Amino acid sequence: MALEKLGKALNNALRKLARSSTVDEATIKEVVRDIQRALIQSDVNVRLVLDLTKRIEKRTLEEKPPAGVSKKEHIIKIVYEELTRFLGTEAKPIEIKEKPTVLLTVGIQGSGKTTSIAKLARYFQKRGYKVGLVCSDTWRPGAYYQLKQLVEPLGIEVFGDPDEKDAIKLAKEGVEYFKEKGADIIIVDSAGRHKEEKSLIEEMKQISNAIKPHEVILVIDGTIGQQAYNQALAFKEATPIGSIIVTKLDGSAKGGGALSAVAATGALIKFIGVGERIDDLEPFDPKRFVSRLLG
Ligand code: GDP
Repeated sequence: MALEKLGKALNNALRKLARSSTVDEATIKEVVRDIQRALIQSDVNVRLVLDLTKRIEKRTLEEKPPAGVSKKEHIIKIVYEELTRFLGTEAKPIEIKEKPTVLLTVGIQGSGKTTSIAKLARYFQKRGYKVGLVCSDTWRPGAYYQLKQLVEPLGIEVFGDPDEKDAIKLAKEGVEYFKEKGADIIIVDSAGRHKEEKSLIEEMKQISNAIKPHEVILVIDGTIGQQAYNQALAFKEATPIGSIIVTKLDGSAKGGGALSAVAATGALIKFIGVGERIDDLEPFDPKRFVSRLLG
């Protein structure tokens, strides 16, 4: 898994620093180079890696450690801080500025998209919002029923028609339907599979143009590692990605691919899925994520 390897490589770089007897410019440069190599080998965007490591190098060479803190401890702190900044300095929730706010979710089948939409609907409902869900997945007939089963017991309505073959029409009608009903938030689900990837991306483009969502949310499986980069990039070509949900971060997964998905889209992770139940969704906390990454 990409992220596990990355965590190990970053740890090795910091351990090398801990072992060295002196901390001079050459040591710092070597540690920074190791960090750089680790990130690039993990498919993280090269330009972002260079920005990140330049900041780390500049700060470690310029900043004086505060009293009582050794140079080494201070460098480790800088690496933590900069990696955290790279992932988004604070857990920013999805903004609900306008009513209704329309959210479009995209992601590959099996990523946990349907479950995440139900969780998201629940999350907003708990905060007092009236939420409507639109299923525009015409490819997998079960998607509509799966979504209904998950949220109807909570009193959340799902708009869809398993017999309709026009996904763009469904998305448009669904948004209109909930607008008329006075929903605060409308979440539109899209297909996660098609005859071929090209038509999936094309459909995404058309849905996005038709409903003009306030934000597009990419759902990425936290266990897929390297593939995350290309997956995220493909979706970004269809429509700008505003935020990312990384699923399946419960269990042993360290969040493979999350860093690369962030790098590929330039979007921030806003939520993580931590289980199969409807309440297993947490706002993303970059500090905790980096701590986990560095072990
Ligand atoms: P979709 O095809 O992308 O809509 O994926 P589903 O929502 O149907 O999820 C696929 C599988 O992943 C299901 O068995 C879900 O219960 C499971 N799943 C989704 N999110 C999580 C999560 O955060 N943690 C765990 N452990 N399982 C999840």
